[in-house]
Amino acid sequence: MAGLGEFALIRQFFAAAACAAPAAGVARGIGDDCALLQLPPGEQLAVSTDTQVAGVHFPAQHDPFLLAQRVLAAAASDLAAMGAAPLGFTLALTLPVADPVWLEGFARGLDTMARACQLALIGGDTTRGPLNINVTVFGSLPAGQALLRSGARPGDLLCIGGPTGEAAAALPLVLGEREPRGAADAQLLAQYWTPQPQLALGQALRGLASAALDVSDGLLADCGHIAEESQVALLIDAALVPLTGALQEAAGERALQLALSGGDDYVLAFTVAPAALPALAASGHAFHVVGRVAEGRGVHLLDPAGRDITPAAGGYQHFGGGDEQA
Ligand code: ADP
Ligand code: MG
Repeated sequence: MAGLGEFALIRQFFAAAACAAPAAGVARGIGDDCALLQLPPGEQLAVSTDTQVAGVHFPAQHDPFLLAQRVLAAAASDLAAMGAAPLGFTLALTLPVADPVWLEGFARGLDTMARACQLALIGGDTTRGPLNINVTVFGSLPAGQALLRSGARPGDLLCIGGPTGEAAAALPLVLGEREPRGAADAQLLAQYWTPQPQLALGQALRGLASAALDVSDGLLADCGHIAEESQVALLIDAALVPLTGALQEAAGERALQLALSGGDDYVLAFTVAPAALPALAASGHAFHVVGRVAEGRGVHLLDPAGRDITPAAGGYQHFGGGDEQA
């Protein structure tokens, strides 16, 4: 990196960050050729990587403090979806210039979300090029207890860990197509920029949920992954899909559509046997039952009369597949 210099940059903004301090499970953090993670006996390492590109995943004009939170939250959400306990993450940063103002904001945002998620920054890579951010997260969980997409069984209930659609409703604000006004818009923007990965819920679902994932590409599209991996049908009851006041205020008649297909939600969707519901309720985590699992294939949206009203389009796919929306 020109200007600041690669090593000075790493030292000043990342190695010195509070989230890079010594942490449980991290035997060696930033500074050597590899970080070393120490897992308790009987635990498996959960790993997920996530790349975000300026102009594709986030606008070129952005607040780096918010951007860092969003990028780390999106990656950490995959740990939540597996029921993993957070350990650490690496950051591979490609920057066009070493702008200290941008870096200061970015490092502060990273630290904010890292501490909220209890993830230690354990290493990374810093190069020059078009702005591109890769985060790889590491978590641990007792061997064999990961929440997979493949365990849903007919008769299970389909639940979500929170309302969907708000991040999608924030897009016109994020893209500068509309000026934010009032508390509702502030809530939509917060949902887009600073989603809170449901790590505690994910861990509480171990041994209770039969299948789980995090909703990043839209509720219908992501439920399709559970249906496919589990070889079942998922029936979503349109009347049970929660719509927040902020979503309804911003999206009006399109609120349900955004809640079903919007994307960027980072809440968990999971299936659970009815017998496990009391234990789940006793865990104290909020959740919404939105449907059920049946014999068959695919995801079906049902109206109150039980009629199939599934829309044609699915979620967002980068390389098409015939059903991209954006
Ligand atoms: P190497 O050349 O061996 O890959 P680097 O010189 O790229 O190592 O990085 C030196 C140390 O700084 C390594 O421990 C690496 O993990 C860490 N590091 C590099 N970039 C970042 C970053 N953006 N955030 C956190 N740690 C970083
Ligand atoms: Mg390197």
